[in-house]
Amino acid sequence: AWLLGNQQINVFQPKLQISLKDKVELEEDLHRAIEQDELDVYFQPKVNASGQILGAEALVRWQHPVRGLVSPIEFIPLAEETGLINKIGYRVIKLVCQCLENWNTKNIQLPVAVNLSARQFLNPSLLKEIWSNLNAHSVMPDLFELEVTESLLLENLDAALPVLNSFHQDGIKVSIDDFGTGYSSLAYLKTLPLSTLKIDRSFIKDLPQQTDDCAIVEAIAFIAKALKLQVVAEGVETIDQLKFLSTIGITVFQGYYFYKPMPVLEFERLLIAQSQS
Ligand code: C2E
Ligand code: CA
Ligand code: CA
Ligand code: CA
Repeated sequence: AWLLGNQQINVFQPKLQISLKDKVELEEDLHRAIEQDELDVYFQPKVNASGQILGAEALVRWQHPVRGLVSPIEFIPLAEETGLINKIGYRVIKLVCQCLENWNTKNIQLPVAVNLSARQFLNPSLLKEIWSNLNAHSVMPDLFELEVTESLLLENLDAALPVLNSFHQDGIKVSIDDFGTGYSSLAYLKTLPLSTLKIDRSFIKDLPQQTDDCAIVEAIAFIAKALKLQVVAEGVETIDQLKFLSTIGITVFQGYYFYKPMPVLEFERLLIAQSQS
Protein backbone atom coordinates (compact mmCIF):
# COMPACT_ATOMS: atom_id res chain seq x y z
CA ALA A 1 0.00 0.00 0.00
CA TRP A 2 2.87 2.27 0.78
CA LEU A 3 4.38 1.67 -2.61
CA LEU A 4 1.13 2.33 -4.44
CA GLY A 5 0.35 5.41 -2.43
CA ASN A 6 3.62 6.99 -3.41
CA GLN A 7 3.87 6.00 -7.05
CA GLN A 8 2.71 9.36 -8.29
CA ILE A 9 5.35 11.14 -6.26
CA ASN A 10 8.07 8.83 -7.50
CA VAL A 11 7.64 10.06 -11.05
CA PHE A 12 8.76 13.49 -9.97
CA GLN A 13 11.28 12.34 -7.42
CA PRO A 14 13.78 9.94 -8.93
CA LYS A 15 15.65 9.88 -5.66
CA LEU A 16 12.75 8.26 -3.86
CA GLN A 17 12.44 5.73 -6.67
CA ILE A 18 16.03 4.71 -6.13
CA SER A 19 15.46 4.36 -2.46
CA LEU A 20 12.47 2.10 -3.13
CA LYS A 21 14.56 -0.05 -5.44
CA ASP A 22 17.22 -0.15 -2.75
CA LYS A 23 14.61 -1.14 -0.27
CA VAL A 24 13.42 -4.09 -2.36
CA GLU A 25 17.02 -5.19 -2.88
CA LEU A 26 17.77 -4.78 0.79
CA GLU A 27 14.82 -6.95 1.71
CA GLU A 28 15.91 -9.71 -0.67
CA ASP A 29 19.42 -9.42 0.68
CA LEU A 30 18.20 -9.64 4.22
CA HIS A 31 16.33 -12.87 3.49
CA ARG A 32 19.56 -14.31 2.16
CA ALA A 33 21.53 -12.96 5.11
CA ILE A 34 19.32 -14.93 7.47
CA GLU A 35 19.47 -18.11 5.37
CA GLN A 36 23.22 -17.94 4.89
CA ASP A 37 24.12 -16.94 8.40
CA GLU A 38 25.61 -13.56 7.61
CA LEU A 39 24.39 -12.11 10.90
CA ASP A 40 26.73 -11.74 13.79
CA VAL A 41 26.82 -10.00 17.15
CA TYR A 42 29.32 -7.51 18.49
CA PHE A 43 29.69 -6.82 22.18
CA GLN A 44 30.07 -3.44 23.83
CA PRO A 45 31.21 -3.57 27.46
CA LYS A 46 29.34 -1.83 30.28
CA VAL A 47 31.97 -0.69 32.75
CA ASN A 48 32.48 1.07 36.07
CA ALA A 49 34.42 4.34 36.35
CA SER A 50 37.74 2.50 36.42
CA GLY A 51 36.90 0.59 33.27
CA GLN A 52 36.19 -2.76 34.89
CA ILE A 53 33.75 -4.74 32.76
CA LEU A 54 30.41 -5.37 34.48
CA GLY A 55 28.39 -6.65 31.55
CA ALA A 56 27.84 -6.13 27.85
CA GLU A 57 25.29 -5.18 25.25
CA ALA A 58 24.95 -7.42 22.22
CA LEU A 59 24.61 -5.46 18.97
CA VAL A 60 23.70 -7.20 15.75
CA ARG A 61 25.98 -6.85 12.71
CA TRP A 62 25.49 -7.93 9.13
CA GLN A 63 28.56 -9.18 7.31
CA HIS A 64 27.39 -8.43 3.77
CA PRO A 65 29.46 -10.23 1.11
CA VAL A 66 29.68 -7.10 -1.06
CA ARG A 67 28.90 -4.11 1.14
CA GLY A 68 30.93 -5.29 4.11
CA LEU A 69 29.74 -4.59 7.61
CA VAL A 70 26.21 -3.14 7.52
CA SER A 71 24.96 -1.18 10.53
CA PRO A 72 21.73 -2.20 12.25
CA ILE A 73 20.44 1.34 11.73
CA GLU A 74 20.32 0.49 8.02
CA PHE A 75 18.38 -2.77 8.26
CA ILE A 76 16.49 -2.97 11.58
CA PRO A 77 13.71 -0.58 10.46
CA LEU A 78 13.08 -2.61 7.30
CA ALA A 79 13.36 -5.88 9.21
CA GLU A 80 10.78 -4.53 11.62
CA GLU A 81 8.47 -3.50 8.80
CA THR A 82 8.66 -6.87 7.04
CA GLY A 83 8.62 -9.03 10.16
CA LEU A 84 12.07 -10.43 9.41
CA ILE A 85 13.11 -8.95 12.74
CA ASN A 86 11.74 -11.98 14.56
CA LYS A 87 14.11 -14.37 12.78
CA ILE A 88 16.99 -11.95 13.21
CA GLY A 89 16.19 -11.59 16.88
CA TYR A 90 16.09 -15.34 17.48
CA ARG A 91 19.47 -15.62 15.79
CA VAL A 92 20.88 -12.93 18.10
CA ILE A 93 19.41 -14.63 21.17
CA LYS A 94 20.95 -17.93 20.12
CA LEU A 95 24.39 -16.43 19.46
CA VAL A 96 24.34 -14.68 22.83
CA CYS A 97 23.33 -17.86 24.67
CA GLN A 98 26.13 -19.78 22.92
CA CYS A 99 28.61 -17.17 24.14
CA LEU A 100 27.26 -17.23 27.69
CA GLU A 101 27.60 -21.01 27.73
CA ASN A 102 31.13 -20.86 26.40
CA TRP A 103 32.20 -18.21 28.94
CA ASN A 104 30.65 -20.24 31.72
CA THR A 105 32.99 -23.12 30.91
CA LYS A 106 35.85 -20.63 31.43
CA ASN A 107 34.28 -19.62 34.72
CA ILE A 108 33.30 -16.19 33.42
CA GLN A 109 29.78 -15.09 34.36
CA LEU A 110 28.82 -11.78 32.85
CA PRO A 111 25.33 -10.46 32.06
CA VAL A 112 24.64 -9.69 28.42
CA ALA A 113 21.73 -7.55 27.20
CA VAL A 114 19.90 -8.12 23.93
CA ASN A 115 17.95 -5.36 22.17
CA LEU A 116 14.35 -5.98 21.25
CA SER A 117 12.15 -4.04 18.84
CA ALA A 118 8.40 -3.67 19.34
CA ARG A 119 7.50 -6.50 17.02
CA GLN A 120 9.84 -8.87 18.84
CA PHE A 121 8.81 -7.77 22.29
CA LEU A 122 5.12 -8.21 21.55
CA ASN A 123 5.58 -11.52 19.77
CA PRO A 124 3.82 -14.18 21.88
CA SER A 125 6.55 -16.77 21.19
CA LEU A 126 9.39 -14.58 22.48
CA LEU A 127 9.55 -15.87 26.04
CA LYS A 128 9.31 -19.49 24.91
CA GLU A 129 12.07 -18.90 22.38
CA ILE A 130 14.30 -17.30 25.01
CA TRP A 131 13.75 -20.19 27.40
CA SER A 132 14.45 -22.82 24.81
CA ASN A 133 17.81 -21.12 24.17
CA LEU A 134 18.59 -20.63 27.86
CA ASN A 135 17.87 -24.30 28.47
CA ALA A 136 19.74 -25.57 25.42
CA HIS A 137 22.85 -23.71 26.56
CA SER A 138 22.42 -24.07 30.33
CA VAL A 139 22.30 -20.31 30.83
CA MET A 140 20.92 -18.86 34.07
CA PRO A 141 18.20 -16.28 33.34
CA ASP A 142 19.92 -13.61 35.45
CA LEU A 143 22.76 -13.45 32.92
CA PHE A 144 20.37 -12.80 30.07
CA GLU A 145 18.99 -9.25 29.97
CA LEU A 146 16.79 -7.31 27.61
CA GLU A 147 16.76 -3.70 26.43
CA VAL A 148 13.57 -2.13 25.11
CA THR A 149 13.21 1.51 24.19
CA GLU A 150 11.17 3.89 26.23
CA SER A 151 9.00 4.71 23.21
CA LEU A 152 8.23 1.02 22.65
CA LEU A 153 6.92 0.76 26.20
CA LEU A 154 4.96 4.00 26.05
CA GLU A 155 3.32 3.22 22.73
CA ASN A 156 2.24 -0.25 23.89
CA LEU A 157 1.76 0.24 27.59
CA ASP A 158 -1.21 -2.12 28.00
CA ALA A 159 0.34 -4.90 25.97
CA ALA A 160 3.77 -4.39 27.51
CA LEU A 161 2.76 -4.84 31.13
CA PRO A 162 1.96 -8.57 31.04
CA VAL A 163 5.07 -9.22 28.96
CA LEU A 164 7.25 -7.35 31.46
CA ASN A 165 5.58 -9.19 34.32
CA SER A 166 6.38 -12.56 32.82
CA PHE A 167 10.03 -11.61 32.31
CA HIS A 168 10.16 -10.31 35.85
CA GLN A 169 8.72 -13.56 37.20
CA ASP A 170 11.30 -15.54 35.25
CA GLY A 171 14.19 -13.46 36.59
CA ILE A 172 15.06 -11.84 33.25
CA LYS A 173 15.94 -8.16 33.76
CA VAL A 174 14.62 -5.50 31.42
CA SER A 175 16.25 -2.10 30.89
CA ILE A 176 14.67 0.99 29.37
CA ASP A 177 16.80 2.03 26.44
CA ASP A 178 17.08 5.61 25.16
CA PHE A 179 15.56 6.84 28.40
CA GLY A 180 14.38 10.44 28.27
CA THR A 181 13.49 10.46 24.58
CA GLY A 182 10.02 8.91 24.92
CA TYR A 183 8.40 12.27 25.67
CA SER A 184 5.85 11.32 28.23
CA SER A 185 4.97 11.26 31.88
CA LEU A 186 7.13 9.33 34.27
CA ALA A 187 4.15 7.61 35.86
CA TYR A 188 4.85 4.34 34.10
CA LEU A 189 8.15 3.96 35.95
CA LYS A 190 6.41 3.10 39.18
CA THR A 191 4.06 0.53 37.65
CA LEU A 192 6.38 -1.46 35.39
CA PRO A 193 8.85 -4.05 36.69
CA LEU A 194 12.10 -2.67 35.28
CA SER A 195 15.70 -2.90 36.42
CA THR A 196 17.66 -0.15 34.68
CA LEU A 197 17.39 3.21 32.96
CA LYS A 198 19.82 3.76 30.12
CA ILE A 199 20.23 7.49 29.66
CA ASP A 200 20.12 8.29 25.98
CA ARG A 201 23.33 9.44 24.31
CA SER A 202 21.69 12.68 23.17
CA PHE A 203 21.76 13.92 26.78
CA ILE A 204 25.36 12.81 27.33
CA LYS A 205 26.81 14.19 24.09
CA ASP A 206 27.21 17.84 25.20
CA LEU A 207 28.05 17.28 28.86
CA PRO A 208 29.33 19.07 30.85
CA GLN A 209 29.17 22.29 28.78
CA GLN A 210 25.40 22.16 28.16
CA THR A 211 23.92 23.10 31.52
CA ASP A 212 20.40 22.04 30.47
CA ASP A 213 21.67 18.56 29.70
CA CYS A 214 23.52 18.49 33.01
CA ALA A 215 20.26 19.28 34.80
CA ILE A 216 18.32 16.63 32.87
CA VAL A 217 20.89 13.91 33.49
CA GLU A 218 21.10 14.81 37.16
CA ALA A 219 17.31 14.67 37.43
CA ILE A 220 17.22 11.25 35.77
CA ALA A 221 19.87 9.97 38.17
CA PHE A 222 17.83 11.32 41.06
CA ILE A 223 14.58 9.70 39.90
CA ALA A 224 16.33 6.39 39.28
CA LYS A 225 17.79 6.40 42.76
CA ALA A 226 14.46 7.23 44.36
CA LEU A 227 12.77 4.40 42.44
CA LYS A 228 15.65 1.97 43.12
CA LEU A 229 16.49 1.56 39.46
CA GLN A 230 20.01 1.11 38.14
CA VAL A 231 21.36 3.75 35.76
CA VAL A 232 23.64 3.33 32.77
CA ALA A 233 25.00 6.35 30.89
CA GLU A 234 25.22 5.57 27.17
CA GLY A 235 27.55 7.09 24.61
CA VAL A 236 30.24 8.28 27.03
CA GLU A 237 33.04 9.53 24.80
CA THR A 238 35.16 11.89 26.91
CA ILE A 239 36.84 12.05 30.29
CA ASP A 240 34.90 15.23 31.09
CA GLN A 241 31.59 13.45 30.51
CA LEU A 242 32.77 10.62 32.73
CA LYS A 243 33.84 13.04 35.46
CA PHE A 244 30.54 14.88 35.45
CA LEU A 245 28.53 11.64 35.47
CA SER A 246 30.60 10.26 38.34
CA THR A 247 30.09 13.45 40.35
CA ILE A 248 26.33 13.05 40.22
CA GLY A 249 26.55 9.44 41.36
CA ILE A 250 26.37 7.46 38.14
CA THR A 251 28.52 4.34 38.32
CA VAL A 252 27.88 2.36 35.13
CA PHE A 253 28.98 3.56 31.71
CA GLN A 254 28.99 2.49 28.11
CA GLY A 255 30.70 4.33 25.30
CA TYR A 256 33.64 4.88 23.02
CA TYR A 257 35.65 6.48 25.83
CA PHE A 258 36.00 2.95 27.21
CA TYR A 259 35.24 0.56 24.37
CA LYS A 260 33.54 0.43 21.00
CA PRO A 261 31.41 -2.60 20.14
CA MET A 262 33.77 -5.44 19.18
CA PRO A 263 33.70 -8.95 17.73
CA VAL A 264 33.28 -11.79 20.18
CA LEU A 265 36.90 -13.00 20.04
CA GLU A 266 38.20 -9.58 20.94
CA PHE A 267 35.68 -9.31 23.76
CA GLU A 268 36.71 -12.71 25.09
CA ARG A 269 40.35 -11.68 25.14
CA LEU A 270 39.38 -8.69 27.26
CA LEU A 271 37.34 -10.84 29.63
CA ILE A 272 40.10 -13.34 30.08
CA ALA A 273 42.66 -10.58 30.69
CA GLN A 274 40.34 -9.05 33.27
CA SER A 275 39.65 -12.35 35.02
CA GLN A 276 43.40 -12.95 35.38
CA SER A 277 44.28 -9.47 36.65
P1 C2E B 1 21.10 1.26 20.93
O1 C2E B 1 20.46 0.08 21.53
O2 C2E B 1 20.81 2.58 21.53
O3 C2E B 1 22.67 0.94 20.93
C1 C2E B 1 23.66 1.89 21.13
C2 C2E B 1 24.26 2.35 19.82
O4 C2E B 1 25.17 3.41 20.10
C3 C2E B 1 25.08 1.27 19.12
O5 C2E B 1 24.98 1.49 17.72
C4 C2E B 1 26.49 1.59 19.60
O6 C2E B 1 27.49 1.13 18.73
C5 C2E B 1 26.46 3.09 19.65
N1 C2E B 1 27.40 3.64 20.60
C6 C2E B 1 27.84 3.10 21.75
N2 C2E B 1 28.70 3.91 22.39
C7 C2E B 1 28.79 5.02 21.63
C8 C2E B 1 29.55 6.26 21.75
O7 C2E B 1 30.29 6.49 22.70
N3 C2E B 1 29.39 7.17 20.76
C9 C2E B 1 28.57 6.95 19.68
N4 C2E B 1 28.51 7.90 18.75
N5 C2E B 1 27.87 5.80 19.53
C10 C2E B 1 27.97 4.86 20.50
P2 C2E B 1 24.68 0.30 16.71
O8 C2E B 1 25.42 -0.92 17.12
O9 C2E B 1 24.87 0.84 15.33
O10 C2E B 1 23.15 0.02 16.95
C11 C2E B 1 22.19 0.96 16.61
C12 C2E B 1 20.83 0.56 17.10
O11 C2E B 1 20.38 -0.59 16.40
C13 C2E B 1 20.78 0.18 18.57
O12 C2E B 1 20.73 1.36 19.35
C14 C2E B 1 19.52 -0.64 18.63
O13 C2E B 1 18.40 0.20 18.72
C15 C2E B 1 19.53 -1.31 17.27
N6 C2E B 1 20.01 -2.69 17.40
C16 C2E B 1 21.28 -3.15 17.48
N7 C2E B 1 21.31 -4.49 17.60
C17 C2E B 1 20.01 -4.90 17.63
C18 C2E B 1 19.36 -6.18 17.75
O14 C2E B 1 19.99 -7.24 17.90
N8 C2E B 1 17.99 -6.16 17.73
C19 C2E B 1 17.27 -5.02 17.60
N9 C2E B 1 15.94 -5.09 17.60
N10 C2E B 1 17.84 -3.80 17.50
C20 C2E B 1 19.19 -3.75 17.51
CA1 CA C 1 20.39 -0.78 23.49
CA1 CA D 1 20.34 3.28 23.56
CA1 CA E 1 19.26 4.31 20.36
